[in-house]
Formats: sequence, C-alpha cells, structure tokens
Amino acid sequence: MRKYTTERVKSSILLIYTGGTIGMKEDPVDMTLRPFNFSQILDEVPELGKFAYRIDSYTFEPIIDSSDVEPSMWQALTNLIEERYDDYDGFVILHGTDTMSYTASALSFMIEGLTKPVILTGSQLPIGVPRTDGRENLISAVEIAAAKDKNGNAVVPEVCICFDNVLMRGNRTSKINSDNFRAFRSANMVPLAEAGISIKYNENLIIYPEDWNRKPVFHTELDTRVSILKLHPGITPQVARDILCGESTKAVIIETYGSGNAPSKEWFLSLIKEASGNGKILLNVTQCIAGSVNMDIYANGLSLKKIGVISGYDSTTESALAKLFYLMGKKLSKKEIESLMEKNLRGEISK
Ligand code: ASP
Repeated sequence: MRKYTTERVKSSILLIYTGGTIGMKEDPVDMTLRPFNFSQILDEVPELGKFAYRIDSYTFEPIIDSSDVEPSMWQALTNLIEERYDDYDGFVILHGTDTMSYTASALSFMIEGLTKPVILTGSQLPIGVPRTDGRENLISAVEIAAAKDKNGNAVVPEVCICFDNVLMRGNRTSKINSDNFRAFRSANMVPLAEAGISIKYNENLIIYPEDWNRKPVFHTELDTRVSILKLHPGITPQVARDILCGESTKAVIIETYGSGNAPSKEWFLSLIKEASGNGKILLNVTQCIAGSVNMDIYANGLSLKKIGVISGYDSTTESALAKLFYLMGKKLSKKEIESLMEKNLRGEISK
C-alpha cells in the first residue's frame, strides 16, 4: 500500500497545448470558435491558481484540430518531454479528442521507463463556454500529474488520458462518443483512477518503473508503413488485395469479427497467404469494442493463425498501429517484431 502525502506538495507541471476544442473560445461578436491566447489560462481556470504548483505552458505552432495530427507531432512531443524532463514533475498535454487515443498510444511506446506522469486531456466543449467540461478535465489532469507519494515519487508514472473524471491508461483507450462528455472508453481495462470527492487510485494496476532514478529512453524513430483492413460483408477481392498486398506497406492490421474471425473463402485466405509470403506482418485485432482475439476458438480464426497471422489479443486498433510504428522504427526483423507484438510492453494488452 503506497502512502500519499496529505499536505500540499510543491510540484511543477508543464502544460503543453497542441490544439483541439478545449483551447478555443467563442468569439463574442461572430460566435465562432477561435484558439485563445494560452497565457490567459489562469484567467479561464482560476482554480488552477489555488494549487501550490508551478505551472508553465508551452504552445505548439501551429495549434491544430487533432484530425490533422501526424507522427511528426508525436516526435515533437517526445523531444519536448525529453528536453524538459528534469525540470518538471509531470506533463499535461491539451489535445483534441478526435485522435487523442492515437497520440496517447504512440507516446506510451515512444517513452520507455517513464517515472513521471504524462496526462492527456481535452474537452467536448470549449473552455470559454459556461458548461464546458474542459475546466474539470484540466483541473483533474493537473492534480493527477502533480500527485506524489510520500517518497516524492509520481503516483501515476504513465501516459494516460484523463477525461470526465476517469483516468485511463492511454494505450487502452478509444474515442467512443462524439458528443457526450464521456468521450473515451477503456473497454478492456478498468480505470487507473476515478475523481470523485477525492481521487481514488487503482494502485495495483499502475505500472511503476524498475528504477525511479533512471531516465526514460525516448524513441523517435517511427516507420509508418502500416495499413488497416476492416473486414465487412461484401468486401471484394480487389479491395482486400489493395490493402493486404499493397507495395507501400510492411504490416497490415486486420480488423476481424468477434474473437478474431475472418471469411473462410478461398480467395481471401490465398490473399492472406500471398501477403504473408511477401513478408508482411499481419496482425489480428477485433472490431469488437471489448474482448480479445482468440484464433483457437473457431475454424475461421484458426485458418488465419495457421497462415501466420499474429494475435493482437485485446489491443485497440489505435494502440496496435502505434506499437507497429514504434517497433518497425527500431529496424528489427519481422520475427522480432511479431514476437514483441504478442508481448505486453506498456500494459497495452492483457498478457
Ligand atoms: N476536432 C476536435 C479535435 O480533435 C475535437 C475535439 O477537440 O474534441 O481537435
């Protein structure tokens, strides 16, 4: 049982603003949403001033709608956190909700051996709107990023998403609602913390570093030659071929049905064989929101396994994509990548 200090610990936080709805304010004249000046944050969220924390901010240029996110931003975020790592106790990233799960997943792999919290948050309503969820989300994210135990170590040294009073491991999340305040879900893993009257941490799920004094390893090499094939009834051989056998990809995430099942038709299986024979990494991830791939249950799943399709277990597609980018960026062999894909590296799969 870890003990948390009750007195106010002086923590320092770097608040990184990348864009998204949270940082927009309604223009009183034409009512459009515009990015607001980040130096005014304490005016918009005066509650932050009540914490005895030092909060510095860093604004990305240009700030973006997160549907414009590219891996280059993940590299820039990783570099920024590496440069400022020793100066802060925690990092809060304000990010659009649309691709927040992708960014959180990517950062979880790109920063190995984290000893400090990296908490992503955003909002469904701009922070300048009276009913905004951004204020609560930001305050909780900052409090969690600043929390230390009695030894002065971070309470949650992980990449997380904090949204609507729930703290989730970032690489377990998906955006599941475009207009409800509960925008994210971590269907295969219970929350790391819940914020009610107090913040209750699920400490037996939190991943702690082996050595609190060792600096993390920051990885910025990514190989993005990955495509996603979402199976659906009526998929044609040509469409499946374009995605499975396209020359520009090295790996394909196959979003299968249920526990990892795919059509048993001859043309489909021979395309899988062809892609595998061409050296592609083929990863089976279920289309279901919850649950895991198990290719041993049905004959239709087993035939994929026999051809060499590997299991994504209960990974989200967002996490599988980020993990492939990361592992392929390390220039490992196909065999090594396949073996690491089936291992739990950052708590991303239940294995
Ligand atoms: N389109 C916005 C974004 O992802 C939505 C949001 O922030 O909630 O940047």
